[in-house]
Amino acid sequence: MFNAHHVKAALLGLAVGDALGVPVEFSSRNKMKRNPVVGMREFGVWSQPIGTWSDDTSLTIAAMESITRLKKFDDVDIMKNFVRWLRDDEFTANNDTFDCGNTTGSAIQNFMNGAPPDKCGITHEQSNGNGSLMRIFPAIFYAYAKASTDEEALQIVHKLSALTHAHPISKMACGIYYFIAAQILDGQNLKVSISNGLKQANEFYKNRQEFLDAVDVYRRMFKDDFAALPEDEIKSSGYVVSTLEAVTWCLLNTDDYKTLVLNAVNLGGDTDTVGAIAGGIGGLYYGVQQIPADWLKVLKRREYLEEMAEKFFLAIS
Ligand SMILES: [Mg+2]
Repeated sequence: MFNAHHVKAALLGLAVGDALGVPVEFSSRNKMKRNPVVGMREFGVWSQPIGTWSDDTSLTIAAMESITRLKKFDDVDIMKNFVRWLRDDEFTANNDTFDCGNTTGSAIQNFMNGAPPDKCGITHEQSNGNGSLMRIFPAIFYAYAKASTDEEALQIVHKLSALTHAHPISKMACGIYYFIAAQILDGQNLKVSISNGLKQANEFYKNRQEFLDAVDVYRRMFKDDFAALPEDEIKSSGYVVSTLEAVTWCLLNTDDYKTLVLNAVNLGGDTDTVGAIAGGIGGLYYGVQQIPADWLKVLKRREYLEEMAEKFFLAIS
């Protein structure tokens, strides 16, 4: 079973990875190699102050706040919080919403136009950016705490994804992340968690009609030699499959939180989201004590994030 420290470590780990990547989002790998990120920077592409996290963290806490307040998963209320983020700058680092992805924006707009939450998410194959994977942690903890079967757990995880990203490829990315995180929460070591989690995900999805094509898209990750792929075969784009591959590859090839998130961000491309997703799992596994203190010191609204994590844990446990 898990405790409040796990939630706190995952959320701070995610926000720190996000904030490390924000100033250099969209930078090419070559550019990152010439001038790698080694710590928190200010300004850059979004002209934000040091320690500013973005949509990845904002939408994570938007869902956490709803689940905390209602003590249950309510998709209408979560969508209302997403609107508060997009329209009213709530759940942001500096009272400023920036970096909203196309699929996320379209889905929230569908909700504002009156669509029910289960009809808001985009189902096109071209709409498989990493925008639901980056904010899936609340469903992972909620499902781990409440669900009694994998079937039930994955229903919760898929539902939170599908509010914006409803294609099977996006839902499966979140499912794979769930299986890996659940292994960590069960107390397994990181490498074993990844290998067990991937095996379980493959087993879970391979016989489900809806996911047959998606399973094929993720086939590279299910191979035993995935960690040994050279860096130039790992893309770190905003396509959710590339993002999840980059995160998993970094997790398999590092042994501490700091190296993990720096490697993730320095792959270039969708730096904040690759950093956030790697940082969330990394925080969960390595704990807050491994997040460099000077990074936490400048992280925007750190106390608010810690409080959010504690209240969320109490609400679901
Ligand atoms: Mg972002």
